[in-house]
Amino acid sequence: MSARFLTSQVASLVVRPAPFLRRRISVEGTSRLSFRPMAAAAPASGDGLKKGIAEFYDESSGIWENIWGDHMHHGFYEAESSATLAGHRDAQVRMVEEALRFAGVSDDPLKKPMRIVDVGCGIGGSSRYLAKKYGAQVQGITLSPVQAKRAQDLTMAAELADKVSFQVADALEQPFPDGQFDLVWSMESGEHMPDKEKFVREMARVAAPGGIIIIVTWGHRDLLPSEEELKPDEINFLNKICKAYYLPKLCSAADYVHIAGSLLLQDIKIADWSDNVYPFWPAFIKSALTWNGLTSLLRSGWKAIKGALVVPLMMKGFKKGLIKYTIITCRKPE
Ligand code: SAH
Repeated sequence: MSARFLTSQVASLVVRPAPFLRRRISVEGTSRLSFRPMAAAAPASGDGLKKGIAEFYDESSGIWENIWGDHMHHGFYEAESSATLAGHRDAQVRMVEEALRFAGVSDDPLKKPMRIVDVGCGIGGSSRYLAKKYGAQVQGITLSPVQAKRAQDLTMAAELADKVSFQVADALEQPFPDGQFDLVWSMESGEHMPDKEKFVREMARVAAPGGIIIIVTWGHRDLLPSEEELKPDEINFLNKICKAYYLPKLCSAADYVHIAGSLLLQDIKIADWSDNVYPFWPAFIKSALTWNGLTSLLRSGWKAIKGALVVPLMMKGFKKGLIKYTIITCRKPE
């Protein structure tokens, strides 16, 4: 593990439940992780939430692609560095590579993933990247019909249509039989899932025996052993962000570890990459303040504008250590 993974959260988890991160986690074992009910109150749930998410991405994906390209996620930067708009694509690709490396996904022709599902695929940036990297068949699912169509068009243009396909489907009820995929990939979609346990269970269901699950997501800080839930002012703060981005209750990294353990998933590892993604936000603001950024934003509609307006809150949340950016990886037993 390289030094940059040893951020505070990993360090604290190494101090406390380290044995559980290295071997198969038992349900009894994970109870020592101080699992708590998820604290931040939900602004929406059920079909209303799904509709909101679909409309949010229907409206905002064009502007995002226009400014940032086809990867709709943070870049991975050196902590404390300053990000340039020109370097954003490299940083986003680096995020994908760091996630694969952290999860130990093999490049070996005999072991590399050949069937991949991209859960919450956006316009397919990761799907196409993974298909090219591994020569794999990739299926992407999103709630947004506009994204699914755009993802398909970009894939045709990249001459990858024989390898990569997209459909509108719910991550909580995936349209796939059990045990299909060597790699189950979720890049910044987990925060939208109203039922985190069902989300991970569904990912585990579609994973092939021995398949790797990668979840890169934002959430809230871990609770202290003395805490039952986040403080009221923290919950209010997060609610503003959740409403703007169509997020239900956020959860913590420890919650994910608990869930993965309770599902008897193996090799559970997490790292806190909050410091590595933070430089994205000042760059995002700079890009939104360009002529291209402002005109695209105004054209794209109210939902996208609301999203842009809470960016200062996101930055504050990261700075306070309340919002965390986490990778969780695990493996389905053989
Ligand atoms: N992973 C992509 C997009 C991230 S944006 C990328 O990195 O480029 C979040 C994505 O999650 C959107 O595509 C949204 O439609 C999807 N999403 C959110 N909730 C979902 C759900 N319940 N089922 C399927 N997709 C979902």
